[in-house]
Amino acid sequence: MKQCIESTFPDSIDIVKQVNTNADIVTQHPCFSNEAHYRVGRIHLPIAPKCNIQCNFCERNMCATEAIQHPGWTARLLSIGEAVNLVGRIMLTRRDSNFVIGVAGPGDPLANDQTFEALGIIHQQYPQTLKCICTNGLLLEDRLDEIATVGIRAITVTVNATSAEVGEYTYSWVRYEGVTYYGKEAASLLISKQFSGIEKAVDAGFSLKVNTVLVPGINNKEMSLIARKAKQLGASVMNIMPLIPCGKMKELRAPTCEELREARQDCEAIIPQFRRCEQCRADVIYLP
Ligand code: SF4
Ligand code: SF4
Repeated sequence: MKQCIESTFPDSIDIVKQVNTNADIVTQHPCFSNEAHYRVGRIHLPIAPKCNIQCNFCERNMCATEAIQHPGWTARLLSIGEAVNLVGRIMLTRRDSNFVIGVAGPGDPLANDQTFEALGIIHQQYPQTLKCICTNGLLLEDRLDEIATVGIRAITVTVNATSAEVGEYTYSWVRYEGVTYYGKEAASLLISKQFSGIEKAVDAGFSLKVNTVLVPGINNKEMSLIARKAKQLGASVMNIMPLIPCGKMKELRAPTCEELREARQDCEAIIPQFRRCEQCRADVIYLP
């Protein structure tokens, strides 16, 4: 029965409610479930170059040394055709489809139409394979229907602040509908779009994870507030990641292991924590 329903090509967010069982994703997605992380593979398609915000810790880079994991890094960008062919080649040797296919950069998946074009083709060819994105959330609500149409079921939104006072130190600018915002105004717009996007996505039946970059001295006091908000909006799990000092934050320090452990422990009382994050490249391929 489940096979049968999952192979239906959905055409609206209403159908997500029928075909997506949140419980399955929470236990089977390698980045929602600690247990599934090494059991289920993940393929990131580096097809999304542009971003519509500037996080102060972000540094996108072309780096061919695939052993180095780093968000926003890729050996090169793939065209839509190359991404579809890559998945096709992997499918030939991995017929068990024991992996998820996602877009996580190097920019924001929702700021790039290539995400929808490539995943749309892949979903038509392999409707049973779980598809996901990792986004800053600015366009989540606006593009929710398109997200459903291309078969995405699991969404990660990176939320680094609940208030504009903290957000203004985290983000340099936010560009929305052709206007660029700065300072508290930018942070406030992004945060409100993230929250309304998460709420609408959960309501439409998507599985939601909240990623948070822990930046000592900037947002460390916001961790439990973010956890509470994520829980309240219906996210299933939270993933607190340590800052990799880069970009405008290259002079800041990463949290210690103890600080990271404490933040996760505090937030675990509020929402389940994902602890296996490897801060992957935008072109990571892990097949167990
Ligand atoms: S949303 Fe992602 S790609 Fe965009 S600036 Fe932030 S970290 Fe970089
Ligand atoms: S960066 Fe973390 S959450 Fe994202 S795919 Fe890698 S392990 Fe999963």
